[in-house]
Amino acid sequence: MLTVFGSTALDTIRTPSKTLKNVLGGAATFAGISASFFVKTGLIAVVGNDFPKKYHNLLGKHLDLSGLSVNSGKTFRYDGSYDKTLSIRKTLKTELNVLGDFNPTVPEEYRKSQFVYLANNDPDQNAEIIKEFDKVKFSMCDTIEFWISTKRNSVIKMIKSVDAVVINDEEAKLLTKEYNLIKCAKKMMSWGAKYVIIKKGEHGSLMFFDDVIFPSAGFSLEDVVDPTGAGDSFAGAMIGYLASKNSTSLSSIKKGVVYGNVLGSFAVEKYGLDGLLQVKKSDISKRIKQYERMIRF
Ligand code: AMP
Repeated sequence: MLTVFGSTALDTIRTPSKTLKNVLGGAATFAGISASFFVKTGLIAVVGNDFPKKYHNLLGKHLDLSGLSVNSGKTFRYDGSYDKTLSIRKTLKTELNVLGDFNPTVPEEYRKSQFVYLANNDPDQNAEIIKEFDKVKFSMCDTIEFWISTKRNSVIKMIKSVDAVVINDEEAKLLTKEYNLIKCAKKMMSWGAKYVIIKKGEHGSLMFFDDVIFPSAGFSLEDVVDPTGAGDSFAGAMIGYLASKNSTSLSSIKKGVVYGNVLGSFAVEKYGLDGLLQVKKSDISKRIKQYERMIRF
């Protein structure tokens, strides 16, 4: 089993073609749903009592919700706006609400999860919760500018507590204060991560392990409408694939990265979660084959 811990949100997403208000989002939501194509996935998260029932039901269709708390107060809210190229996102508002003082606990049945993904979330909560699992074989975390700017030392401490970091290129630079992605990865490895995966948006990703660098292309798309959650979908697919194979071999990690690129590509083709929600397992295998054809030379 895989456990995903992180934000479950009501997002406001402004793209040049459409604005979505208070729609279901959050790093753990995208990552969990993406992972659920590969393996049974449990969610640990908190929402407020304003969280719509229809979203609760939707999450329940894909994820085990024994770790979802409903606390009194408002759900975490994120508001972000894309420029016309869809490659630059400005955060307009981050309201932690019930996430701010969340004191997460791991349900008994999740404690034996061998694969744990700490999605974007308060790094102190992430570093604490990982200690509650009994048999972790592979753990991975992500972070975002908000936490790097407000809690950099806690982000570094969180990185020490996991096997792998998945992070986008701009955030890797901001966090490590380096400009070259190899230097960024080496610094995160010196803090304790064995694997570092740096996502480069539509350009794919670089995976680092010891002295191995595995570059992978993004799945090229002509029509992108909303990049929100692509990184989380990438991470969820990657760790979901590893959990489904119960493997942490380097070749599985490389394949996981490829699944990450493919699930990320589905996420950006529709608004909000729709890209992921409309995917069928057969679409994934089809796109993996197309991806293989695309990179073969
Ligand atoms: P991504 O596009 O992969 O960076 O992920 C976007 C998702 O991350 C959105 O659905 C947000 O709700 C969530 N998010 C944004 N900021 C934060 C934050 N500071 N902490 C946790 N989750 C966040």
